[in-house]
Amino acid sequence: MPTSLIGVPPDVAQLREEIFNISHGQPISIERARFQQLWPYLDNIYVFKGTRKPTRGPTVTYLYRRLFRDKDHKTLVAPGDRQRNWASRSAIGCPCRLKKVDNGSGPIQLIRNSKQGHNHEYSALAWKITSGIKALAGQEVSKGYTASQVANVLKNPQNGNLQALHLAGGEALRSQDVRNAGL
Ligand SMILES: [Zn+2]
Repeated sequence: MPTSLIGVPPDVAQLREEIFNISHGQPISIERARFQQLWPYLDNIYVFKGTRKPTRGPTVTYLYRRLFRDKDHKTLVAPGDRQRNWASRSAIGCPCRLKKVDNGSGPIQLIRNSKQGHNHEYSALAWKITSGIKALAGQEVSKGYTASQVANVLKNPQNGNLQALHLAGGEALRSQDVRNAGL
């Protein structure tokens, strides 16, 4: 059987919420190693939208999020109708913008550089799984398990995995995602 418990870093949920709720004028400082370990579990909140790397001074990376209407997300919860609802969801521009400032060493700073925060609930992120979860699924597939075996174990509500997926941005995981992750 595939690994029964998934190795999601324990503080990922806390950092996800902290970063989601980041305030204008209140940067978040994250220790470099921790940022690198946890970012793959955060990348369904923000995506990189370009980097400015001057010859001197810090590297600044801009993070935006393209999101979809909350009302469409609510309909996603109904299983079975999922495919059709995914096709009908409509894009909104979430005004929340972030920049990541990297001095090359020391902690990473995340700064909200938009006055406006998110225009949607945290739960609106649930439709998209993080690359950290994709990588975990891919590891299991590479051991020779089928996509549905892996998906079943990862989504098992009895062994804590479903909760871990929820905390790490992977609750929308489907067998097809596992299949793609293993390619
Ligand atoms: Zn947003």
